[in-house]
Amino acid sequence: MQLLVVATKNKKKLSEIKAILKGLDLKLLSLDAYKNVPPVVENGQTFQENAIKKAVKLARFTGQFCLGEDSGLCVDVLNGAPGIYSARFSGSNKSDIKNNLKLLRLLKDAPVAERKARYVCAVALADKQGLLGVVEGECSGLIALESKGSAGFGYDPLFYIPKYKKTFAQLGEKIKHKMSHRYYALKKAKRIIEKYIEKQVGN
Ligand code: IMP
Repeated sequence: MQLLVVATKNKKKLSEIKAILKGLDLKLLSLDAYKNVPPVVENGQTFQENAIKKAVKLARFTGQFCLGEDSGLCVDVLNGAPGIYSARFSGSNKSDIKNNLKLLRLLKDAPVAERKARYVCAVALADKQGLLGVVEGECSGLIALESKGSAGFGYDPLFYIPKYKKTFAQLGEKIKHKMSHRYYALKKAKRIIEKYIEKQVGN
């Protein structure tokens, strides 16, 4: 079984990644499995740059096959904000609730047609030799008028899917994991992972 170390401490993100990659011959570990991991400064200008930094740095540190993930919410009328700053949208004393309240405040007067948003997820894979590949997935929706539901994390109580007339937090993981930005990015990443596993078995 191939070891894959995921560069995150976010338990909800990790459990989504685990659920979506289920079925591959992989043992997933998170950053929690290692001591003194050097912090990664997320100062890239894009999701992909940050995902690459996370994967390459961790692979160099652990010597293992690693996955870096960077994701966020881009709101059209806010020119793509919060984007790569999604986690820290409400400042250094951030929390999911504060981030969501700030978003609702900024969109207070926006009609439904101006509440278009998309989630973006970049996934990079690396081993001790360096970067193996980077891919991206997206998922479109609207920012709801109020928070609804309790599943998922982050902006999920506000991320409304018109097809289901519900937010991701109301829909729950079964549906989210078949249509999310993370699902589409990991679907592409699976090809890189499978190739890597095949190569290791061949060696
Ligand atoms: P990262 O850990 O630096 O990639 O930050 C990701 C941030 O984007 C999270 O803290 C959330 O605020 C937001 N985000 C990314 N993916 C999701 C998702 O699937 N649901 C809700 N919020 C998300």
